[in-house]
Amino acid sequence: MLQDLLDNIRVVLVHTSHPGNIGAVARAMKTMCLKNLYLVQPKLFPDPAATVRAKQAEDILDNAILVDTLQEAIADCCLVMGTSARPRNLVWPSMDIAQAGKQIIKESSQYPVAIVFGRERTGLTNEEIQMCHYQINIPANPHYSSLNLAAAVQIVAYEIYKNVMEPMESAHKDPVNELAVQAELQGLYEHLEQVLIQLAYLDPAQPGQLMPRLQRLYNRARLEKAEVNILRGMLTAVQKKLN
Ligand code: SAH
Repeated sequence: MLQDLLDNIRVVLVHTSHPGNIGAVARAMKTMCLKNLYLVQPKLFPDPAATVRAKQAEDILDNAILVDTLQEAIADCCLVMGTSARPRNLVWPSMDIAQAGKQIIKESSQYPVAIVFGRERTGLTNEEIQMCHYQINIPANPHYSSLNLAAAVQIVAYEIYKNVMEPMESAHKDPVNELAVQAELQGLYEHLEQVLIQLAYLDPAQPGQLMPRLQRLYNRARLEKAEVNILRGMLTAVQKKLN
């Protein structure tokens, strides 16, 4: 039961510079029974520095999945959480860390869930945060709020693990219809953008915040597969009329 839940959870590290941090992340994960690590274009990996820092969690490094883009790492996930030390201009829906831990356990009983961590120096870009349903912030010193990458993973992993140590109130499944995976949402956003350009509602030379705002709107709704199909069907109908 425990392992089934945790098997559906993946940690995604985006453009990590220091292999030592990747090793430390593997160790942090293993202490909290997580095992799925996705690496989006790490600077150096595999690397002895990663292996040394992983201690007995080398198996996680051996099984880590390397991908070229964040999109690939989260394509089949229905819930994607992004972590960030700082607020963004376009405020993204956020969840406090304890609530996020509960939500992740609840949803991982049904489908793959990703937690995304950014670059050591610059974190996640706005575009990357916008691929996430929610942003998680670890409350910290307002004058020095940026934790080491592996420390951030450790805290989030612990908040998740806490919920499996407690009696499982979340074990029952909500009778929800099948949620759309990230790749389907991405397909919808690209289709929508095309149509809005065709309609001259969106000027590609001056896109402003329109697409991120629409993405945020649809993200909030946690769209089901069937709903994505309806929306895409509507877009196709608009395109047929236009042509
Ligand atoms: N200067 C960067 C911080 C990078 S720290 C920034 O402003 O975002 C590397 C990564 O660790 C971050 O991308 C994030 O995934 C995680 N992290 C560090 N501190 C965090 C915090 N207080 N809350 C949530 N995630 C944090």
